[in-house]
Amino acid sequence: MTNRTHDAIAFASLTSVAILFPPASLNLLTFIFSIIAADIGSMIPDMDQAGNKLWDFLPAGNFMGRIFKGVFYKHRTLSHSILGTFLIFKFLQFVLEKLLNPGFINPQIILTALMIGYISHLVADAFTREGLPLLFPLKLTFGIPPIKKLRIRTGKFFENFIVFPLTWIFTITVIYLNQDRLIEILNIIR
Ligand SMILES: [Zn+2]
Repeated sequence: MTNRTHDAIAFASLTSVAILFPPASLNLLTFIFSIIAADIGSMIPDMDQAGNKLWDFLPAGNFMGRIFKGVFYKHRTLSHSILGTFLIFKFLQFVLEKLLNPGFINPQIILTALMIGYISHLVADAFTREGLPLLFPLKLTFGIPPIKKLRIRTGKFFENFIVFPLTWIFTITVIYLNQDRLIEILNIIR
């Protein structure tokens, strides 16, 4: 799926999880950064593509992207597997604990938001023709539904004109139906 769809699905997932499992405490920085984190998390699995937006933030990003792509040698391998998800979780946990001052920003919430974005990306990709190499390095791929022909083609009509708008309609509906819950969350922000 394209970046745009992944962004939308990550935001929908973050909103849904926040409503189902509201945080016990939240400050403004954590609130803002968790929204950005879900977005970044949703872009991480496709960092094996040189065109990925995340590389634009780095100097010589596209060059790095090409090298990185070379390391993965093929799109959708380690980063779209259970092993890759576990490794990225451990890596982000380590980095965030070193990087963030818990007095100002809650590393657990940021880590959770990043992983919500990451996992929402994998779930969305499961609906595409390519499927997911969940058990990488084994060559098996998984998809929903299991019959490949019934799945979505990345960047084509169904994704752009059905999945993308439906995701936003879903998010707006969820927000509308859970206003009270969301106001409660906004109220705990210090
Ligand atoms: Zn992907």
